[in-house]
Amino acid sequence: MFLDLLLRQPCYVLPAFLYLCYLLAMQNIKDFTLKEIEQWLVSFEEKSYKALQIFAWVFNRGVGSFDEMTDLSKELREKLKETFSISKPKIFAIEKSKDGTKKLLLELEDKNYIECVLIPEEDRLTLCISSQVGCPLDCGFCMTGKSGFVRNLKLSEMADQVFAAQGVLSDNHKITNLVLMGMGEPLLNYEEVIKFLNIAIHQKGLGFAPRRVTVSTSGVAPMIERLGRETKVNLAVSLNAATDEIRNRLMPINKKYPLQILLDACRKYPAVRNRHITFEYIMMQDVNDSIKDAERLVELLKGIRCKINLIPFNPFPISEFKRPPEKTILNFQKVLLDNNYVVIIRASKGQDISAECGQLRGKLQG
Ligand code: SF4
Repeated sequence: MFLDLLLRQPCYVLPAFLYLCYLLAMQNIKDFTLKEIEQWLVSFEEKSYKALQIFAWVFNRGVGSFDEMTDLSKELREKLKETFSISKPKIFAIEKSKDGTKKLLLELEDKNYIECVLIPEEDRLTLCISSQVGCPLDCGFCMTGKSGFVRNLKLSEMADQVFAAQGVLSDNHKITNLVLMGMGEPLLNYEEVIKFLNIAIHQKGLGFAPRRVTVSTSGVAPMIERLGRETKVNLAVSLNAATDEIRNRLMPINKKYPLQILLDACRKYPAVRNRHITFEYIMMQDVNDSIKDAERLVELLKGIRCKINLIPFNPFPISEFKRPPEKTILNFQKVLLDNNYVVIIRASKGQDISAECGQLRGKLQG
């Protein structure tokens, strides 16, 4: 019936419709790894070494069309055009903070929205990127968790966050560090995340040094060891409690992978020499900020080469938690310092904009 209707339209409608289908069927080259581009070339008897040239044009130079790939033959460029598309990230909104933090809201092809945040610090410019649309884990302190889970992000959608963020910077500013700490739990989108990490640290890809890339997990214990085996990037664990009772309340994933299982996985993480696992500890008043909590943390992390980031909670409209007073935070830090831990109190950046992960997208959804 639909075809019948289509055939009765003016003569230009059917070709236009077919062309649209054709375009939609094209695959985004940014979803292809180097190996997959090689396999594609070999499938029609092209030289596999050309894959590295194509890969570098796409991920290192970030070109927007195949015509710009000037060291490839015209025939190969035509073949690429017939087979693939190259996505362009679409920035839907940007919020800028007085402290220089920029939050970008990106619109995806299916009209879903994700966030990434540029965080300038003295010696670095970090991009915090999302790995899922929403998140299934529902941590009590997180705005993204409150809005539920929609889907995993594709490799191209993670890479496009880097291109979008780099695109809003002036020429003399470069992103120096990447953290997968935005919307979603990266280790629940493992296959795409590992592809993205490999491209992020490939010299002809996005070109970041592995020590400048960090994956942050809420504690998907079985995937931690695998991540350590398969990449050399840094690991951060969002810990936030020193007892199962408190962590169960804050982070439901703890019921599946309680502290002992999580920390065993961290102990087995094959950390690169001279590097530490980072434990993130969001401090919430009268929830996890007592001296007793600090003392428990000292015991819990014994034997793990680590540093601890204390992050005073940044309240958002529907949250039930508060930021602890300054003195409480300092007293907590002192207990850890006295026990020879490296402890940094990290200021929440971008407090005058929708700084919490998920807030800007939340605004859009009303
Ligand atoms: S804190 Fe991270 S893992 Fe927890 S709900 Fe938010 S996005 Fe998901």
